[in-house]
Amino acid sequence: MKEQLLKEFKEKFGSEGDIRSYFAPGRVNLIGEHTDYNGGHVFPCALTIGTYAIVRKREDRNFRFYSTNFESLGVIEASLDNLKYDKALDWTNYPLGVVWAFIEKGYPVDYGFDMLLFGNIPNGSGLSSSASVEVVTGVALRDLFGYDDISMIDIALFGQYSENNFNGVNCGIMDQFAIAMGKKDQAIFLDTSDLSYTYAPIKLANEKIVIACSNKKRGLGDSKYNERRAECEEALAELQTKLDIKALGELSEEEFESNKDLIKSEVRQRRAKHAVYENQRTLKAVDALKAGNLEEFGKLMNASHVSLRDDYEVTGIELDTLVENAWEQEGVIGSRMTGAGFGGCTVSIVKTDCVDKFIENVGKAYLEKIGYAADFYVVEIGDGGRVLE
Ligand code: ADP
Ligand code: MG
Repeated sequence: MKEQLLKEFKEKFGSEGDIRSYFAPGRVNLIGEHTDYNGGHVFPCALTIGTYAIVRKREDRNFRFYSTNFESLGVIEASLDNLKYDKALDWTNYPLGVVWAFIEKGYPVDYGFDMLLFGNIPNGSGLSSSASVEVVTGVALRDLFGYDDISMIDIALFGQYSENNFNGVNCGIMDQFAIAMGKKDQAIFLDTSDLSYTYAPIKLANEKIVIACSNKKRGLGDSKYNERRAECEEALAELQTKLDIKALGELSEEEFESNKDLIKSEVRQRRAKHAVYENQRTLKAVDALKAGNLEEFGKLMNASHVSLRDDYEVTGIELDTLVENAWEQEGVIGSRMTGAGFGGCTVSIVKTDCVDKFIENVGKAYLEKIGYAADFYVVEIGDGGRVLE
């Protein structure tokens, strides 16, 4: 892979100088959905698929970018002297945003670079290709400019900072964190309220993680996301009239049940219930995994989907079709939607010898019901962003 990309880089940008290679993965969240902005836990892992970057520092203040995923856009040029979001610069706003974030955070970037990208994760499907581009850029900048005191967590934070403030996308920290800090065969148990985290090994001896991408075009997702956030905030405020809590994630199921009548609408009660129960499910899922109980982990994944479908109402016909068909297949340990919902992907744990049949059957049922095909990815859990030697 790297050799082929180096060759392409040299064809586009010339072969002279010190050309370096970097990689950052995509990520999938195994459980803990819509908990991050409710002071709860998430449980994502980095994948072996992601974004490759071939980069050479320049001696002037210019940038040249090329992505093999956006060939038709050709080479896109930019300059350090005009570093601001510009729609015409298309995808390069992501790497440029990270350059901007480095400078904002006190790490001067005085020279431009030439960059070729290649991603083998789908774009805009919820595997976080944008965060992958941000982290691979951060790793490259740290290496090219010798900023050894920048940690991988800093790189994650700079990535989020740039996506929030340069690209204007209201994302949490989970994606960049998982992509920067991922470890082979480990998921990350992350408390989004204070960024404390531990690794939990995922021993999949006879099972695979299968991601199904719904290919649903982006619709009302963003506005619904903001609506859910607002509903949770309102429910929290109602509970706070009696309870001394800062976030829904602080409540146990019992505490929620005995106080839920403080929430004056049935809809908001269901939203808050999801936030509370999903956080508790995430805690239980991590314990189950640590105890080697994959069956229990799978049941919690299924319960997560039901809660996202019925109480939080963020699934939609596409994700429900994928998951409900997955549940009927042989060898499925668990299956749920992953990411913000309304489209994007599902994640399933499937016995290895059932994977082919799973993809065939779920794919066929999806095509029949929805009218267009889903894409399937059998993924491995990989390391976080890094320099490629
Ligand atoms: P997601 O992060 O869920 O994949 P986003 O819409 O947040 O979806 O990010 C997708 C965008 O990130 C793409 O439209 C593009 O601008 C940028 N991007 C991701 N991967 C690449 C790549 N390999 N080359 C160039 N741009 C990329
Ligand atoms: Mg994104």
